[in-house]
Order: sequence, then C-alpha cells, then structure tokens
Amino acid sequence: MVDGALGGLVKWLRFCGFDTSSGKFRASDLQGLPLSEPGVILVTSQAGFRKLKRPDILVIETASPEGQLAEVIHRLGLSWQQLAPLSRCVRCNEALRQVGREQLAGRLPDHVLHNQADFFECPRCRRLYWPGSHIQTIMDRLRAAVSGRGVESGVLPAVNNVL
Ligand SMILES: [Zn+2]
Repeated sequence: MVDGALGGLVKWLRFCGFDTSSGKFRASDLQGLPLSEPGVILVTSQAGFRKLKRPDILVIETASPEGQLAEVIHRLGLSWQQLAPLSRCVRCNEALRQVGREQLAGRLPDHVLHNQADFFECPRCRRLYWPGSHIQTIMDRLRAAVSGRGVESGVLPAVNNVL
C-alpha cells in the first residue's frame, strides 16, 4: 500500500510487478491497528508515521519517484529475482495476460502488429502492452534501482500503451 501522495512510486512498483494499491492514510488511524493483511507494507513519506515504529510501515525520505523506488528496494532488501517487471497494468494493478496477435486485428496499427511478437492485455481496462522501445529504458532504471546505483535523472517514460 502506498500513500496517495506518491503516485509516481505506485507506477514504478507496478512496473516491478508488486501488487500495489494507493490510498489516504493517517498515522492516527493506524495507531495500534494492523494493516489489512500479513505481508502488506505501507509506504509513505509522512514523517508522522515514524513515531509508530512499526516494521510494516516504511517512511521514505527520497523525493523523486525513481529514487523512492530505489529506497524501497534497498530498505526492504529486495533482489532482482523477486521482481516480475512489466507483469502488471500500471493503471489498474491487474496482472497482465498474454494475447495472440490474431486476436488484435483492428485494435492496433498494422505496423505494430507486424513488428512485435508479444502482446499483453489488462483484463480490467483492456489496455494493450507490448515490448516497445521504452522497455529498455524502464528495465535499465529498474536494474539501477535494484543494484543500488540509483537513478540519476529523468522522469518515468510515457508508457500509455507502449511498454
Ligand atoms: Zn488496466
């Protein structure tokens, strides 16, 4: 679960394949209360959560979404093997399913259909994804975050329909 103020981080975590939801949270609401399920971590930048001193609440300090991703990965001790990059819809959080090219006639431009081999669809919003030119940039940034080198600059690439 990610604090709603950290929208960029939500997208990055979904790129990594993490089941990620966002919402509004206040430290006073969670005092003494468990998060919804075991294994759930709340990520927030609100300093007020620090006083709760809970292992299931991560108060991050980095400003940029890419830096926040690096911080989350580093502080939770995650490794590359624990990620499933590009397996979720960045908008809905749904797991993507692979669809055959033959099912997509009329839904994508011909040059895309002919030049790409793999297509994925969100079962909820039906947004289509395929490994386009942005994928290398995203993967490089994920690797940088996981390796601890951080991500130097830039904003999240536009990925509306093109992963
Ligand atoms: Zn979707």
